[in-house]
Amino acid sequence: MTTFADTERPLDDAREIDAGSYRVTVAAGLRHQFARLIAEAAPAHHYAVVSDVAVAPHYGESLTLTLAAHAPVSLHLVPSGEAHKTRDTWARVTDGMLDAGCGRDTTVVALGGGVVGDLAGFVAATFMRGVPVVQCPTTLLAMIDASVGGKTGVDTAAGKNLVGAFHPPAAVLADVETIRTLPLAQRRSGLVEAIKHGVLADAAYFARLDADLPALLDAEPSATLDAVARSVEIKAEVVRADEREHGRRKTLNLGHTIGHALEHVSEYALLHGEAVAIGMVLEARIAERLGVAEAGTAQRIEAVLRRAGLPVARPRELPVDRVVDATRLDKKARGGRVEYALPARIGAMAGEASGWALPVDDQLVHEVLA
Ligand code: NAD
Repeated sequence: MTTFADTERPLDDAREIDAGSYRVTVAAGLRHQFARLIAEAAPAHHYAVVSDVAVAPHYGESLTLTLAAHAPVSLHLVPSGEAHKTRDTWARVTDGMLDAGCGRDTTVVALGGGVVGDLAGFVAATFMRGVPVVQCPTTLLAMIDASVGGKTGVDTAAGKNLVGAFHPPAAVLADVETIRTLPLAQRRSGLVEAIKHGVLADAAYFARLDADLPALLDAEPSATLDAVARSVEIKAEVVRADEREHGRRKTLNLGHTIGHALEHVSEYALLHGEAVAIGMVLEARIAERLGVAEAGTAQRIEAVLRRAGLPVARPRELPVDRVVDATRLDKKARGGRVEYALPARIGAMAGEASGWALPVDDQLVHEVLA
Protein backbone atom coordinates (compact mmCIF):
# COMPACT_ATOMS: atom_id res chain seq x y z
CA MET A 1 0.00 0.00 0.00
CA THR A 2 1.27 3.44 -0.93
CA THR A 3 0.56 5.88 1.87
CA PHE A 4 -0.17 9.57 1.81
CA ALA A 5 1.66 11.94 4.06
CA ASP A 6 -0.78 14.23 5.79
CA THR A 7 1.69 17.05 5.57
CA GLU A 8 2.63 18.59 2.24
CA ARG A 9 6.14 18.48 0.92
CA PRO A 10 7.69 20.73 -1.71
CA LEU A 11 7.32 19.56 -5.30
CA ASP A 12 10.20 19.42 -7.73
CA ASP A 13 9.41 20.49 -11.26
CA ALA A 14 5.63 20.86 -10.98
CA ARG A 15 4.18 21.84 -14.38
CA GLU A 16 0.99 23.81 -14.91
CA ILE A 17 -0.73 23.66 -18.26
CA ASP A 18 -3.54 26.00 -19.23
CA ALA A 19 -6.27 23.90 -20.84
CA GLY A 20 -8.73 26.75 -21.39
CA SER A 21 -11.30 26.91 -18.61
CA TYR A 22 -9.14 24.82 -16.24
CA ARG A 23 -5.54 24.01 -15.38
CA VAL A 24 -3.73 20.71 -15.50
CA THR A 25 -1.08 20.30 -12.79
CA VAL A 26 1.49 17.54 -13.24
CA ALA A 27 4.11 16.72 -10.62
CA ALA A 28 5.85 13.86 -8.82
CA GLY A 29 4.30 13.56 -5.36
CA LEU A 30 1.32 15.82 -6.14
CA ARG A 31 -1.03 13.41 -4.32
CA HIS A 32 0.24 14.82 -1.04
CA GLN A 33 -1.43 18.09 -2.04
CA PHE A 34 -4.57 16.75 -3.74
CA ALA A 35 -6.92 17.70 -0.89
CA ARG A 36 -5.84 21.35 -0.75
CA LEU A 37 -5.79 21.71 -4.54
CA ILE A 38 -9.23 20.11 -4.92
CA ALA A 39 -10.67 22.39 -2.24
CA GLU A 40 -9.15 25.44 -3.99
CA ALA A 41 -10.29 24.49 -7.50
CA ALA A 42 -13.78 23.31 -6.52
CA PRO A 43 -14.89 24.39 -3.04
CA ALA A 44 -17.85 22.26 -1.93
CA HIS A 45 -19.94 21.20 1.05
CA HIS A 46 -19.48 17.54 0.17
CA TYR A 47 -16.86 15.63 -1.82
CA ALA A 48 -17.91 12.44 -3.60
CA VAL A 49 -14.75 10.51 -4.43
CA VAL A 50 -15.27 7.95 -7.19
CA SER A 51 -12.57 5.32 -7.52
CA ASP A 52 -12.16 1.67 -8.45
CA VAL A 53 -11.25 -1.35 -6.35
CA ALA A 54 -7.71 -1.57 -7.76
CA VAL A 55 -6.83 2.11 -7.22
CA ALA A 56 -8.54 2.85 -3.90
CA PRO A 57 -6.36 0.51 -1.80
CA HIS A 58 -3.33 2.53 -2.90
CA TYR A 59 -4.60 6.08 -2.85
CA GLY A 60 -8.27 6.23 -1.80
CA GLU A 61 -8.17 6.16 1.97
CA SER A 62 -5.55 8.87 2.32
CA LEU A 63 -7.37 11.13 -0.11
CA THR A 64 -10.68 10.78 1.70
CA LEU A 65 -8.98 11.38 5.07
CA THR A 66 -7.20 14.55 3.94
CA LEU A 67 -10.23 15.88 2.04
CA ALA A 68 -12.37 15.43 5.16
CA ALA A 69 -10.53 18.39 6.66
CA HIS A 70 -12.38 20.55 4.08
CA ALA A 71 -15.89 19.01 3.92
CA PRO A 72 -17.73 15.70 4.48
CA VAL A 73 -16.51 13.00 2.07
CA SER A 74 -18.13 9.86 0.68
CA LEU A 75 -16.21 7.19 -1.23
CA HIS A 76 -17.95 5.48 -4.13
CA LEU A 77 -16.12 2.37 -5.25
CA VAL A 78 -16.75 0.71 -8.60
CA PRO A 79 -15.31 -2.54 -9.97
CA SER A 80 -12.31 -1.96 -12.24
CA GLY A 81 -12.34 -2.41 -15.98
CA GLU A 82 -14.09 -1.23 -19.13
CA ALA A 83 -16.92 -3.75 -18.61
CA HIS A 84 -18.13 -1.57 -15.72
CA LYS A 85 -18.19 1.76 -17.57
CA THR A 86 -21.95 1.41 -17.93
CA ARG A 87 -25.27 3.05 -17.14
CA ASP A 88 -25.73 0.46 -14.35
CA THR A 89 -22.58 1.65 -12.62
CA TRP A 90 -23.63 5.27 -13.21
CA ALA A 91 -26.96 4.48 -11.50
CA ARG A 92 -25.23 2.80 -8.54
CA VAL A 93 -22.87 5.75 -8.03
CA THR A 94 -25.59 8.41 -8.32
CA ASP A 95 -27.88 6.43 -5.97
CA GLY A 96 -24.94 6.11 -3.54
CA MET A 97 -24.41 9.87 -3.71
CA LEU A 98 -28.09 10.54 -2.99
CA ASP A 99 -27.95 8.12 -0.03
CA ALA A 100 -24.83 9.91 1.25
CA GLY A 101 -26.68 13.23 1.22
CA CYS A 102 -24.87 14.82 -1.73
CA GLY A 103 -26.60 17.86 -3.16
CA ARG A 104 -25.94 20.60 -5.68
CA ASP A 105 -23.01 21.82 -3.58
CA THR A 106 -21.11 18.56 -4.12
CA THR A 107 -17.88 18.19 -6.07
CA VAL A 108 -17.10 14.83 -7.65
CA VAL A 109 -13.47 13.69 -7.50
CA ALA A 110 -12.41 11.05 -10.03
CA LEU A 111 -9.49 9.01 -8.69
CA GLY A 112 -8.43 6.37 -11.18
CA GLY A 113 -7.84 5.55 -14.82
CA GLY A 114 -9.86 6.58 -17.85
CA VAL A 115 -12.75 4.30 -16.93
CA VAL A 116 -13.24 6.03 -13.57
CA GLY A 117 -12.58 9.44 -15.16
CA ASP A 118 -15.19 8.99 -17.91
CA LEU A 119 -17.75 7.49 -15.53
CA ALA A 120 -17.24 10.01 -12.70
CA GLY A 121 -17.20 12.84 -15.23
CA PHE A 122 -20.57 11.66 -16.56
CA VAL A 123 -21.90 11.34 -13.00
CA ALA A 124 -20.82 14.95 -12.39
CA ALA A 125 -22.32 16.12 -15.70
CA THR A 126 -25.73 14.68 -14.79
CA PHE A 127 -25.99 14.72 -10.98
CA MET A 128 -28.42 17.52 -10.01
CA ARG A 129 -28.06 18.70 -13.66
CA GLY A 130 -24.32 19.14 -13.27
CA VAL A 131 -21.80 19.55 -10.44
CA PRO A 132 -18.04 20.17 -10.71
CA VAL A 133 -15.57 17.34 -11.19
CA VAL A 134 -11.86 17.26 -10.40
CA GLN A 135 -9.93 14.63 -12.31
CA CYS A 136 -7.09 12.85 -10.47
CA PRO A 137 -5.86 10.43 -13.14
CA THR A 138 -3.76 7.43 -12.04
CA THR A 139 -2.93 5.79 -15.39
CA LEU A 140 -0.64 7.13 -18.07
CA LEU A 141 -3.52 7.00 -20.54
CA ALA A 142 -5.81 8.99 -18.26
CA MET A 143 -3.09 11.58 -17.53
CA ILE A 144 -2.16 12.26 -21.13
CA ASP A 145 -5.50 11.72 -22.75
CA ALA A 146 -8.75 10.83 -20.98
CA SER A 147 -8.70 13.44 -18.19
CA VAL A 148 -8.11 16.35 -20.59
CA GLY A 149 -10.72 17.60 -23.03
CA GLY A 150 -14.00 17.33 -21.18
CA LYS A 151 -15.44 14.23 -22.85
CA THR A 152 -17.29 12.01 -20.38
CA GLY A 153 -19.55 9.03 -20.84
CA VAL A 154 -20.37 5.37 -20.54
CA ASP A 155 -20.51 2.40 -22.91
CA THR A 156 -23.62 0.60 -24.13
CA ALA A 157 -24.14 -2.81 -25.73
CA ALA A 158 -24.10 -1.04 -29.11
CA GLY A 159 -20.63 0.44 -28.62
CA LYS A 160 -18.19 2.48 -26.57
CA ASN A 161 -18.89 5.97 -25.21
CA LEU A 162 -22.29 6.19 -26.87
CA VAL A 163 -24.02 7.93 -23.95
CA GLY A 164 -22.17 10.90 -22.51
CA ALA A 165 -21.66 14.63 -22.22
CA PHE A 166 -19.03 17.31 -22.62
CA HIS A 167 -18.22 18.32 -19.04
CA PRO A 168 -14.80 19.94 -18.60
CA PRO A 169 -13.22 19.40 -15.16
CA ALA A 170 -12.60 22.18 -12.62
CA ALA A 171 -8.99 20.95 -12.48
CA VAL A 172 -6.81 17.99 -13.44
CA LEU A 173 -4.25 16.86 -10.86
CA ALA A 174 -1.76 14.26 -12.09
CA ASP A 175 0.78 12.68 -9.76
CA VAL A 176 3.23 10.81 -11.99
CA GLU A 177 4.41 8.73 -9.01
CA THR A 178 1.11 6.85 -9.10
CA ILE A 179 2.25 5.23 -12.36
CA ARG A 180 4.67 3.13 -10.29
CA THR A 181 1.82 0.91 -9.09
CA LEU A 182 0.33 0.63 -12.59
CA PRO A 183 0.97 -2.75 -14.29
CA LEU A 184 3.56 -2.66 -17.11
CA ALA A 185 1.05 -3.63 -19.82
CA GLN A 186 -1.06 -0.61 -18.85
CA ARG A 187 2.00 1.69 -18.98
CA ARG A 188 2.78 0.43 -22.48
CA SER A 189 -0.80 0.94 -23.54
CA GLY A 190 -0.77 4.53 -22.25
CA LEU A 191 2.47 5.31 -24.05
CA VAL A 192 0.72 4.75 -27.37
CA GLU A 193 -1.28 7.95 -26.93
CA ALA A 194 1.92 9.87 -26.17
CA ILE A 195 3.54 8.48 -29.32
CA LYS A 196 0.38 9.47 -31.20
CA HIS A 197 0.76 13.06 -29.94
CA GLY A 198 4.33 13.08 -31.26
CA VAL A 199 3.16 11.83 -34.66
CA LEU A 200 0.38 14.35 -34.98
CA ALA A 201 2.11 17.48 -33.69
CA ASP A 202 5.76 17.30 -32.64
CA ALA A 203 8.58 15.34 -34.32
CA ALA A 204 11.11 16.32 -31.60
CA TYR A 205 8.77 14.94 -28.92
CA PHE A 206 8.38 11.73 -30.95
CA ALA A 207 12.19 11.34 -30.97
CA ARG A 208 12.43 12.10 -27.24
CA LEU A 209 9.82 9.46 -26.41
CA ASP A 210 11.79 6.95 -28.45
CA ALA A 211 14.99 7.78 -26.53
CA ASP A 212 13.21 7.72 -23.15
CA LEU A 213 11.32 4.44 -23.67
CA PRO A 214 13.23 2.43 -21.02
CA ALA A 215 12.72 5.15 -18.39
CA LEU A 216 9.07 5.55 -19.34
CA LEU A 217 8.36 1.82 -19.15
CA ASP A 218 10.10 1.87 -15.76
CA ALA A 219 7.75 4.69 -14.59
CA GLU A 220 10.77 6.88 -13.85
CA PRO A 221 9.15 10.10 -12.50
CA SER A 222 11.09 12.78 -14.40
CA ALA A 223 10.73 11.09 -17.82
CA THR A 224 7.05 10.42 -17.08
CA LEU A 225 6.53 14.03 -16.00
CA ASP A 226 8.10 15.35 -19.22
CA ALA A 227 5.96 13.09 -21.38
CA VAL A 228 2.70 13.76 -19.53
CA ALA A 229 3.30 17.53 -19.58
CA ARG A 230 4.13 17.66 -23.32
CA SER A 231 1.23 15.39 -24.25
CA VAL A 232 -1.21 17.44 -22.19
CA GLU A 233 0.07 20.62 -23.89
CA ILE A 234 -0.51 19.09 -27.32
CA LYS A 235 -3.94 17.68 -26.48
CA ALA A 236 -5.04 20.89 -24.71
CA GLU A 237 -3.98 23.01 -27.68
CA VAL A 238 -5.87 20.84 -30.15
CA VAL A 239 -8.99 20.74 -27.95
CA ARG A 240 -8.87 24.52 -27.35
CA ALA A 241 -8.89 25.06 -31.09
CA ASP A 242 -11.91 22.78 -31.58
CA GLU A 243 -13.70 21.71 -28.41
CA ARG A 244 -16.67 20.01 -30.10
CA GLU A 245 -14.68 18.04 -32.69
CA HIS A 246 -15.82 19.76 -35.84
CA GLY A 247 -12.32 20.00 -37.28
CA ARG A 248 -8.83 19.80 -35.81
CA ARG A 249 -9.83 17.68 -32.80
CA LYS A 250 -10.44 14.89 -35.31
CA THR A 251 -6.65 14.56 -35.66
CA LEU A 252 -6.65 12.99 -32.16
CA ASN A 253 -8.48 10.04 -33.74
CA LEU A 254 -5.29 8.95 -35.47
CA GLY A 255 -5.06 5.16 -35.10
CA HIS A 256 -8.50 4.98 -33.50
CA THR A 257 -10.75 4.07 -36.43
CA ILE A 258 -8.98 0.78 -37.05
CA GLY A 259 -8.01 0.64 -33.35
CA HIS A 260 -11.59 0.75 -32.07
CA ALA A 261 -12.61 -1.82 -34.69
CA LEU A 262 -9.85 -4.21 -33.55
CA GLU A 263 -10.77 -3.62 -29.90
CA HIS A 264 -14.42 -4.36 -30.64
CA VAL A 265 -13.77 -7.52 -32.70
CA SER A 266 -11.30 -8.80 -30.06
CA GLU A 267 -14.10 -8.31 -27.50
CA TYR A 268 -11.69 -6.08 -25.58
CA ALA A 269 -9.03 -8.78 -25.22
CA LEU A 270 -6.71 -6.19 -26.81
CA LEU A 271 -6.02 -3.24 -24.51
CA HIS A 272 -7.09 0.11 -25.95
CA GLY A 273 -3.48 1.23 -26.47
CA GLU A 274 -2.51 -2.06 -28.11
CA ALA A 275 -5.37 -1.74 -30.57
CA VAL A 276 -4.50 1.91 -31.29
CA ALA A 277 -0.83 0.96 -31.82
CA ILE A 278 -1.83 -1.45 -34.59
CA GLY A 279 -4.32 1.11 -35.89
CA MET A 280 -1.69 3.84 -36.09
CA VAL A 281 0.69 1.71 -38.15
CA LEU A 282 -2.05 0.56 -40.53
CA GLU A 283 -3.58 4.01 -40.90
CA ALA A 284 -0.11 5.45 -41.65
CA ARG A 285 0.21 2.79 -44.36
CA ILE A 286 -3.14 3.87 -45.77
CA ALA A 287 -1.86 7.47 -45.78
CA GLU A 288 1.26 6.42 -47.70
CA ARG A 289 -0.79 4.41 -50.19
CA LEU A 290 -3.04 7.44 -50.77
CA GLY A 291 0.04 9.59 -51.32
CA VAL A 292 -0.80 11.95 -48.44
CA ALA A 293 2.04 10.78 -46.14
CA GLU A 294 5.78 10.93 -46.64
CA ALA A 295 7.25 7.52 -47.51
CA GLY A 296 8.66 5.80 -44.41
CA THR A 297 6.18 7.36 -41.94
CA ALA A 298 4.50 4.03 -41.13
CA GLN A 299 7.85 2.31 -40.77
CA ARG A 300 9.09 4.92 -38.26
CA ILE A 301 5.92 4.64 -36.17
CA GLU A 302 6.14 0.86 -36.28
CA ALA A 303 9.79 0.87 -35.12
CA VAL A 304 9.07 2.94 -31.98
CA LEU A 305 6.01 0.88 -31.08
CA ARG A 306 7.98 -2.36 -31.51
CA ARG A 307 10.72 -1.05 -29.23
CA ALA A 308 8.04 -0.27 -26.64
CA GLY A 309 6.93 -3.91 -26.83
CA LEU A 310 3.60 -3.12 -28.48
CA PRO A 311 1.79 -5.09 -31.21
CA VAL A 312 1.96 -3.59 -34.72
CA ALA A 313 -0.06 -6.02 -36.87
CA ARG A 314 -3.58 -7.42 -36.87
CA PRO A 315 -3.78 -10.53 -34.64
CA ARG A 316 -4.48 -13.42 -37.02
CA GLU A 317 -7.51 -14.59 -35.07
CA LEU A 318 -9.38 -11.34 -35.88
CA PRO A 319 -10.92 -11.78 -39.36
CA VAL A 320 -10.24 -8.93 -41.80
CA ASP A 321 -13.88 -8.70 -42.93
CA ARG A 322 -15.16 -8.33 -39.39
CA VAL A 323 -12.62 -5.61 -38.63
CA VAL A 324 -13.55 -3.70 -41.81
CA ASP A 325 -17.24 -4.00 -40.88
CA ALA A 326 -16.48 -2.75 -37.39
CA THR A 327 -14.79 0.41 -38.72
CA ARG A 328 -18.29 1.42 -39.85
CA LEU A 329 -19.62 1.35 -36.27
CA ASP A 330 -17.10 3.88 -35.08
CA LYS A 331 -17.14 6.87 -37.36
CA LYS A 332 -19.54 8.70 -39.59
CA ALA A 333 -19.18 7.89 -43.24
CA ARG A 334 -18.97 10.53 -45.94
CA GLY A 335 -20.41 9.40 -49.28
CA GLY A 336 -20.50 5.83 -47.93
CA ARG A 337 -16.78 5.90 -47.05
CA VAL A 338 -15.41 5.86 -43.49
CA GLU A 339 -13.33 8.92 -42.59
CA TYR A 340 -9.82 8.71 -41.17
CA ALA A 341 -7.41 11.08 -39.46
CA LEU A 342 -4.18 10.44 -41.39
CA PRO A 343 -0.58 11.56 -40.84
CA ALA A 344 1.35 13.61 -43.41
CA ARG A 345 4.70 12.81 -41.74
CA ILE A 346 6.05 12.49 -38.20
CA GLY A 347 4.91 15.73 -36.54
CA ALA A 348 2.10 16.77 -38.90
CA MET A 349 -1.31 15.58 -39.99
CA ALA A 350 -2.84 15.54 -43.47
CA GLY A 351 -6.22 16.75 -44.60
CA GLU A 352 -6.53 20.31 -43.29
CA ALA A 353 -8.44 21.33 -46.43
CA SER A 354 -11.00 18.58 -45.88
CA GLY A 355 -11.62 19.19 -42.17
CA TRP A 356 -8.78 16.94 -40.98
CA ALA A 357 -10.61 13.74 -41.96
CA LEU A 358 -10.19 11.86 -45.23
CA PRO A 359 -12.61 9.30 -46.64
CA VAL A 360 -10.99 5.92 -47.36
CA ASP A 361 -12.42 3.04 -49.43
CA ASP A 362 -13.08 -0.22 -47.58
CA GLN A 363 -10.97 -1.99 -50.22
CA LEU A 364 -7.81 -0.14 -49.15
CA VAL A 365 -8.55 -0.78 -45.46
CA HIS A 366 -9.00 -4.43 -46.36
CA GLU A 367 -5.62 -4.50 -48.12
CA VAL A 368 -3.61 -3.00 -45.25
CA LEU A 369 -5.33 -5.28 -42.73
CA ALA A 370 -4.58 -8.33 -44.84
P1 NAD B 1 -8.64 1.84 -16.74
O1 NAD B 1 -9.28 3.00 -16.11
O2 NAD B 1 -9.46 0.61 -16.91
O3 NAD B 1 -7.32 1.48 -15.91
C1 NAD B 1 -6.56 0.35 -16.28
C2 NAD B 1 -6.38 -0.63 -15.12
O4 NAD B 1 -5.40 -0.12 -14.22
C3 NAD B 1 -7.64 -0.84 -14.29
O5 NAD B 1 -7.67 -2.19 -13.90
C4 NAD B 1 -7.42 0.04 -13.08
O6 NAD B 1 -8.11 -0.45 -11.95
C5 NAD B 1 -5.92 -0.04 -12.88
N1 NAD B 1 -5.26 1.12 -12.29
C6 NAD B 1 -5.48 2.42 -12.59
N2 NAD B 1 -4.57 3.20 -12.00
C7 NAD B 1 -3.75 2.39 -11.29
C8 NAD B 1 -2.60 2.61 -10.48
N3 NAD B 1 -2.05 3.81 -10.34
N4 NAD B 1 -2.03 1.54 -9.89
C9 NAD B 1 -2.54 0.30 -10.08
N5 NAD B 1 -3.59 0.02 -10.86
C10 NAD B 1 -4.20 1.06 -11.46
O7 NAD B 1 -8.08 2.18 -18.20
P2 NAD B 1 -7.36 3.44 -18.84
O8 NAD B 1 -6.48 2.88 -19.85
O9 NAD B 1 -6.82 4.37 -17.83
O10 NAD B 1 -8.57 4.21 -19.53
C11 NAD B 1 -9.32 3.65 -20.58
C12 NAD B 1 -10.63 4.39 -20.71
O11 NAD B 1 -10.37 5.76 -20.99
C13 NAD B 1 -11.52 3.87 -21.80
O12 NAD B 1 -12.81 3.68 -21.29
C14 NAD B 1 -11.52 4.97 -22.84
O13 NAD B 1 -12.74 5.04 -23.56
C15 NAD B 1 -11.31 6.18 -21.98
N6 NAD B 1 -10.76 7.32 -22.69
C16 NAD B 1 -11.42 8.50 -22.61
C17 NAD B 1 -10.95 9.62 -23.26
C18 NAD B 1 -11.65 10.94 -23.13
O14 NAD B 1 -11.32 11.89 -23.85
N7 NAD B 1 -12.60 11.05 -22.24
C19 NAD B 1 -9.76 9.54 -24.01
C20 NAD B 1 -9.10 8.32 -24.07
C21 NAD B 1 -9.61 7.21 -23.41
